[in-house]
Amino acid sequence: MVNLGNRRYFRRLTERKTIMAKRTLITSALPYANGPIHLGHLAGAYLPADLYTRYLRLKGEDVIHICGSDEHGVPITIAAEKEGITPQQVVDKFHNQNKGIFERFGIDFDYYGRTSSKTHRETSQDFFKVLNEQGVFKKKTEEQLYDEDADMFLPDRYVKGTCPICGYAEAYGDQCEKCGSSLSPTELIDPISAITGNKPITKMTEHWYLPLGNFQEWLEEWIGSRKKWKPNVTGQCKSWLNTGLGDRAVTRDLTWGVPVPLPEAEGKVLYVWFDAPIGYISATKEWAEKQGNPDLWKTYWQDDDTTLIHFIGKDNIVFHCIMFPAILKQYGKYILPENVPANEFLNLEGRKLSTSKGWAVWLDEYMDNFEPDLLRYVLGTTLPETKDSDFTWKDFQVRVNSELADIFGNFVYRTTSFTQRFFDGQVPEAKDLNETDRAALSAITEQKELIQKAYDSFRFREAIAETMNLARIGNRYFTETEPWKSRKEAPQVCKNTLYVCSQICGALSLLFQPVMPQKMHLFREQLGIPHHTKWEQIDDHLVSAGHLVTEQEILFNKIEDDIVEKEIQKLKDKSETQTGEEEKFPALKETATFDDFMSLDLRAGKIVAAEKVKKSNKLIKIKVDLGFEKRTILSGVAEFFSPDDIVGKSVCVVANLAPKKMMGIESNGMILMGEDSEGSLHFVETDAEPGSPIT
Ligand SMILES: [Zn+2]
Repeated sequence: MVNLGNRRYFRRLTERKTIMAKRTLITSALPYANGPIHLGHLAGAYLPADLYTRYLRLKGEDVIHICGSDEHGVPITIAAEKEGITPQQVVDKFHNQNKGIFERFGIDFDYYGRTSSKTHRETSQDFFKVLNEQGVFKKKTEEQLYDEDADMFLPDRYVKGTCPICGYAEAYGDQCEKCGSSLSPTELIDPISAITGNKPITKMTEHWYLPLGNFQEWLEEWIGSRKKWKPNVTGQCKSWLNTGLGDRAVTRDLTWGVPVPLPEAEGKVLYVWFDAPIGYISATKEWAEKQGNPDLWKTYWQDDDTTLIHFIGKDNIVFHCIMFPAILKQYGKYILPENVPANEFLNLEGRKLSTSKGWAVWLDEYMDNFEPDLLRYVLGTTLPETKDSDFTWKDFQVRVNSELADIFGNFVYRTTSFTQRFFDGQVPEAKDLNETDRAALSAITEQKELIQKAYDSFRFREAIAETMNLARIGNRYFTETEPWKSRKEAPQVCKNTLYVCSQICGALSLLFQPVMPQKMHLFREQLGIPHHTKWEQIDDHLVSAGHLVTEQEILFNKIEDDIVEKEIQKLKDKSETQTGEEEKFPALKETATFDDFMSLDLRAGKIVAAEKVKKSNKLIKIKVDLGFEKRTILSGVAEFFSPDDIVGKSVCVVANLAPKKMMGIESNGMILMGEDSEGSLHFVETDAEPGSPIT
């Protein structure tokens, strides 16, 4: 795949990095329009993307931030079936809801599109057509699972079954959520349809595959050259590359989605992960249209002077670092992402976030009780940038109270109220600054440099910590210089202190702008600093003497204990109602007839010998005495019992089960076990003598 042309293309991409970006295109992962936004989403993509966008805007750079709803894929249709409404109704509801929530929270998108739009359908169909004409796709006819009653194929989450890797009984057709393996529906053991609960049949169907193996060499070279990528991102890419890239189906047998634009592909749509990233392009087209300059999108997607950055969570790395770049590269003309600063996962109160278990903080509920900027700050200091991190309500309270209120808020309050009281609100003139004054002043530019470096390397936690450090320096300086004493003893010394403190306040009102845009807007008004002030103007004399500082409310109020305790309790209550009976116990299977049951021959047996199966972590080879004969049965209990523990147990055996070969050994029957909600196994024991029927 790699030829001279590719190398040249690739070199051009690497070389241009040395020149400053003329413009930046920022994208945030498109959220599925099948549910509301929670803290995990925010910490993964949207807050970091917004911090970076606002930072670049503050620097006066040409930047646009593009996002939108991902309205295709099986999660949408399943949500629709669950609620008894159409997929269109589902996406309309959540598209509008999430768009509004992002706005309220101050996520600064230039455009929030949706993948059900006409532009998106045309754009993604064009990608498919061009790649198809280039002869890239492989067409394969293969057996797929099919639900006869529902009269449809069962891709992705439409089928559930036992994971062939870890044995988890509720694995989906595309992924096992227990062990994280990515699966295809036909790999599942004992698959059942998620629609009817039926056992599916297999049926032949034709699909288009993108042979990613053709891009392997090029991707290795390209990803290898991305020196600034985060190690967690390159690490995941390399593990995909090391396993070797295979063919990936880009079409599905579904009715909801972008129709495959070929006459012979009726009833087929594009795979959601083929069309979703193209959504960034179609949303940019719609944005350009709104600017009255329909071709403007090309400048952002096809001009080498544009830097493209994808903000995503770690579960989307393969699509943004392997699949989408391969598609863009193959199509030609398009630029490739300069960086994909993917975040790890955010936990909540020490537990994995789970929407189905109710273990999540929804953004709209948060905003009913607290201001957006508080969460932007706290979450910003806790972002899972290099490893998973944890959000707790206690930590939220501590950071709001002891950092925002006690350090930053206190410093601002001391400075502005002192200026009000003793200088009629006018920033005093500085004269003959001493060393302490000069050190405090120079902290502004020193901190600014540290903050800038951190933002430029996508280390937002560090950027925010260094910004707070400037407030800390200011607060300490105020205490040390004791203006309440010098006011009478040495008035000029007092004036110098307030002058210096005003400069630090001015700088903070801008340096904190990306993190707390709403609060800083108010703060700048209080300080009389114009809102269009840019990053390069942040220095040690931003606020001139004589400048009027007005009185304002306190910037940050403290949060009382009972308020956060209420939030913790709310979380616990909600997760308990949602992990009630149905979660603790699996749903009942369909009614079996008496004959179904009688067709099973259950017998009492006694375990007479047991040994671990070599090279298997799970299987024990068990010899069972059934009275009339001794049998070999393989049982997946090695994680719970050692062979010695189980010899002598009187057990129940399904004695007429068809033989099955595992790890080269034939198993003749099954020993009944009880599995509790923790996943532990218990033998079903009996006092009956070996061979006795169990009815
Ligand atoms: Zn698994």
